[in-house]
Amino acid sequence: MDVHEVYSRLKVDTIINAIGPATRLGGLPLHPEVVEAMVASLELPVRISELQRQAGRAVAEALGVPGAYVTAGASSALQLAAAVCLASDDPGRGDQLPHVPEGRPRRIVVQSAHRDPYDRALESAGAELITVGYPEGTHRSEVSRAVDERTVAILYRPWRHGNHVALPVLKEIGEEWDIPVIVDGALAGPPIPALKSLFSEGATVVATSGGKSLRGPQASGLLLGPADFIERAAVHHQDMDERESTWQSATGAPGPLRQGIGRQSKVGREQIVGLWTAVMRYAGDPGRDDQAGIAELGLLESALSRLVPEVEVERQWDHGLGTPMLVVGVGEAVDGVIRNLASASPRVMVGESLAWQGQLTLHSMALRPGDSEKIARALRHAISTL
Ligand SMILES: *Cc1c(COP(=O)(O)O)cnc(C)c1O
Repeated sequence: MDVHEVYSRLKVDTIINAIGPATRLGGLPLHPEVVEAMVASLELPVRISELQRQAGRAVAEALGVPGAYVTAGASSALQLAAAVCLASDDPGRGDQLPHVPEGRPRRIVVQSAHRDPYDRALESAGAELITVGYPEGTHRSEVSRAVDERTVAILYRPWRHGNHVALPVLKEIGEEWDIPVIVDGALAGPPIPALKSLFSEGATVVATSGGKSLRGPQASGLLLGPADFIERAAVHHQDMDERESTWQSATGAPGPLRQGIGRQSKVGREQIVGLWTAVMRYAGDPGRDDQAGIAELGLLESALSRLVPEVEVERQWDHGLGTPMLVVGVGEAVDGVIRNLASASPRVMVGESLAWQGQLTLHSMALRPGDSEKIARALRHAISTL
């Protein structure tokens, strides 16, 4: 079966993805080498614990970070990081998550501007988020006052505008209380320099996506950090359908947990092997697999000036994804234009992060050859049928 047959049998419309690595659109097209490795991995069974350990080592070395563990996404990595902070080294407490006994520490302190809908992942493990400061700025003293013996971690998200407390300062505060700094680095692109600098600035662990700049499987991600933290995270994630009397512990833990809080976001051989392959490709030549989409974005820029000359198009840099994008001003009718594009044939999905100022964003990462002409025609039609 080819791709058209798969989706036509299911009566599902394929789309043009001008947003990039969005989970709701199934993410980016994968390089054939990654797809082949995923398919090959399925031919024989292996122990997931061993595959995780070996793939984690290779990924950590390629990215130049202390340790790595494959998760179902950055969101899952955040949940596992919180689980480690909440359960400490006590297996009994791990079994109780997301319930944390009365009086036990469960707070994670986060600056107001660093809050994000993905905070749900940390809360799902049992953490309580304590917000400090304001969207435009946070004082160091506000963070210091909030961190106390009830706190298990500090959460940090890079690239937020405003006068916020920097990562090295959070690291200092964390060290005073002996608690880790968890960094949500899901939009930290380009990955290798960005991830390295997060660690050198003070991250204890970093959660990142496999399906964004690394171009791995969409349902994959990484928890990066010191080996002992990673091993403790694995216990909350891997299948624990094991007997105590035959349990072979990799970490010296006396026995298996029951199924951990992260077991519902399991990863299979294909995600682990796919992400490992993608990271090796990426590390070998960072950004090479972005080039075709960037070239198509160039064609899109000229197709727009030819077919929809009335709209203003500006090329900008997306710092989170580390790729160029086009910002297209359509004015007050922006919602109608977006809806018309999404119901065009083929459907065209565009970025809405600047819709509040009447602009669409068009990203290069998921563009395929020929998409530029189709997007420009769809936009002309979408505007003319408002
Ligand atoms: C994309 C994203 C996530 C979630 O990543 P997944 O890999 O899809 O789980 C979390 N945080 C931020 C800031 C993101 O951009």
